Amino acid sequence: MRNADLVARGLKSVWHPCTQMKDHETLPLVPIRRGKGVWLEDFESNRYIDAVSSWWVNLFGHANPRINAAIQKQISELEHVILAGFTHEPVVNLSERLIEVTPKGLNKCFYADNGSSAIEAALKMSFHYWKNQGRPGKKNFVNLSNSYHGETLGALALGDVALYKETYKPLLMEVLTAPSPDAYNKEAGETDEAYALRQFEAMEKLLEEKHEEICAVVVEPLIQCAGGMRMHHPVYHTKLRQACDRYGVHLIADEIAVGFGRTGTLFACEQSGITPDFMCLSKGLTAGYLPLSVVLTTNDVYNAFYDDYETLKAFLHSHSYTGNPIGCAVALATLDIFRDDNVIEKNRRLSACLAESVAHLADHPNVGDIRQHGMTLAVEMVKDKASKTPFPWQERRGVRVYQHSLTREALLRPLGNVVYFMPPYVITEDQIRHLAQVATEGINIAVRD
Ligand SMILES: *Cc1c(COP(=O)(O)O)cnc(C)c1O
Repeated sequence: MRNADLVARGLKSVWHPCTQMKDHETLPLVPIRRGKGVWLEDFESNRYIDAVSSWWVNLFGHANPRINAAIQKQISELEHVILAGFTHEPVVNLSERLIEVTPKGLNKCFYADNGSSAIEAALKMSFHYWKNQGRPGKKNFVNLSNSYHGETLGALALGDVALYKETYKPLLMEVLTAPSPDAYNKEAGETDEAYALRQFEAMEKLLEEKHEEICAVVVEPLIQCAGGMRMHHPVYHTKLRQACDRYGVHLIADEIAVGFGRTGTLFACEQSGITPDFMCLSKGLTAGYLPLSVVLTTNDVYNAFYDDYETLKAFLHSHSYTGNPIGCAVALATLDIFRDDNVIEKNRRLSACLAESVAHLADHPNVGDIRQHGMTLAVEMVKDKASKTPFPWQERRGVRVYQHSLTREALLRPLGNVVYFMPPYVITEDQIRHLAQVATEGINIAVRD
């Protein structure tokens, strides 16, 4: 098989996600035959470092031997079983382990099979909790500007990225939006922390005025990933936790992207020292192997549903593959690797290397910002450095960086004008330096004319 054969066949039968298919008249699909560690390889021995962890999911490389072994072991025992009325060892083990490693106070695990579905479940649970408490008037949700929570209708309604949302607006529930603490927008001379505190005032005011009708505030702690890898200071969530307690509003932490070490701690909430009422996890949960997601919540929430059947307080929500045993076995293997290999500790060196390797870009005339939380680093290309004027989106300069990266053994897939690295944790320092080099070349090409 040659690359071109598979590409031609694929274009006849596959509708690709998040893609204007017409782009593939000029931008060839990249057919991948196999993966190994950070490398993706095509049918003609070209290879690419997966700098974006295949959309932020992969943690320990492709075809990881330990995870492969866990799958093989599980698949020979039990591939799947209904999780209503039945249970199995992987889901019990995983729930115990997740409760152990997540912030104290999260005591129950509810499973779904992708990130958006976890968000949907958390929204329904929060609303239903208040209803079960005799507070049906609490039915609104608060999000942050520029947020992203997935693309099923409920999750899409909760997001605020116009590119994904605008078209479907007539179909979506209304939400209340508070301004994000995104440090990119701070004043010159202002610290990230001061800006986060200043932005929090609007959230406080919104909660004060409308808490009677609000179920929950939903946040992506520390990094708004799909919103362009925009980052903020953890103090925002410390304040938000206090305010949610004061006003009787749930806090939903969407750690689908940032969980499992991306921000430098196992979970981003740790950096604010908080326990949310709901924590949604997916993506890294299975180290990039299988679709699985989970909503962790408190005993308080759980107990509000716990009653005689006739009261109709139960949470009657399910997905066919809820708590799939193979997915759970992979998640357990993932947690084993974190523990046995001291991953969070070792990543500190890689994070420092990421920072060093792009430090030279700080003076680049078309770089408006370099920002980082742990294992996620982003470089924002701008038309004018002083005013941070963006390049018009129609110019699609990020695509030029992407195209260049493919010629240099790297998969960098910018979000608009934001070039970022979110690599698997098995990457080496030399590979990081190579990515930084490729990104620099790509940016130089992209900003021309
Ligand atoms: C990816 C993502 C989701 C949605 O997860 P899917 O599995 O793609 O449905 C939700 N929230 C955040 C922050 C994400 O990055």
